Amino acid sequence: MKSKSLAFWLLGIVATAAIAAQIAPPIRGDWTAEQVTKNVYVIHGPLGNPSPENQGFMNNPAFVVGPEGVVVIDPGGTVQTGHLLMKHLKATTDKPVVAVIDTHIHGDHWLGNQAVREAYPEVPIYGHPRLVSRVKAGADVEWLSLMHEMTHKASEGTVAIPPEKEIKDGDRLSLAGLTFEVMHVDKSHTDSDLMLYIPELETVFTGDNVGNNRILRIDQGSFKGNMDAIAKLLELPAKTFVPGHGRSGGREVPENYLKYMQTVYKEVEAAFEEGKPDYEVRPTLMPKLSAWKDWDGFGDTVGGHINTSYLEIEAAAF
Ligand SMILES: [Zn+2]
Repeated sequence: MKSKSLAFWLLGIVATAAIAAQIAPPIRGDWTAEQVTKNVYVIHGPLGNPSPENQGFMNNPAFVVGPEGVVVIDPGGTVQTGHLLMKHLKATTDKPVVAVIDTHIHGDHWLGNQAVREAYPEVPIYGHPRLVSRVKAGADVEWLSLMHEMTHKASEGTVAIPPEKEIKDGDRLSLAGLTFEVMHVDKSHTDSDLMLYIPELETVFTGDNVGNNRILRIDQGSFKGNMDAIAKLLELPAKTFVPGHGRSGGREVPENYLKYMQTVYKEVEAAFEEGKPDYEVRPTLMPKLSAWKDWDGFGDTVGGHINTSYLEIEAAAF
């Protein structure tokens, strides 16, 4: 009996060592958790897609310190990014993490959940029901392999831990002694986007419905819906806006992204009314988008935005 338990114990050590060996190195570089407003901290990650250079860290992992604990929002796309977040969180406050909220299905926002769970095994993780169902249908495997491939294995060691607590539009959560008002407009950047308003801190987390210096693709979402989502959050008396990618700021952050979308939409609408096909939109639209032409993702994404909005305008007309 004794030798059997010893064998199991040794096996445990070997297994642990094997797992440890498979974890890729931590995120390089000097990053800071910036206090964007009272009690709200954001690590503004690099712009761009996952790559070996950014090691899959290219979102805005954030935490909100309340009177009764800490709420983590979008802990990143790899366990390494999650560890970076936890390091800064622990250096900022001794309060425990009481909840994690994932804004949408894209793995660069939620695969870092694992790092929070390592430190707080019981912490509840919240997300939209469609995030949960898409993961059940295999989105976790897709995102893990995409990260692995795009970063040349810099995400190694990451395990997908999706939300298990489903939240939807209109929910009001009391977490850490603060209120989190949940907003969702069916389809926008994706079909699982949550926007979070914390009235006590006059702060909104926009998710990927808003980018700053980054144009974001619409993925199983809606161009018009994305504009509606931004219009909805601009109705709030909020002062601080944390976008999914790029620097946080005031109302100008969502306003500027909405202006980009409206410029595309209006031009596409006019072309449709004149009976022009979508590929004839580009020459007249491009000069009007000069303010955004240097934004990350612009060249790769604007064509998709023209197509998506054209199809939606066409569908609405029939
Ligand atoms: Zn996204």
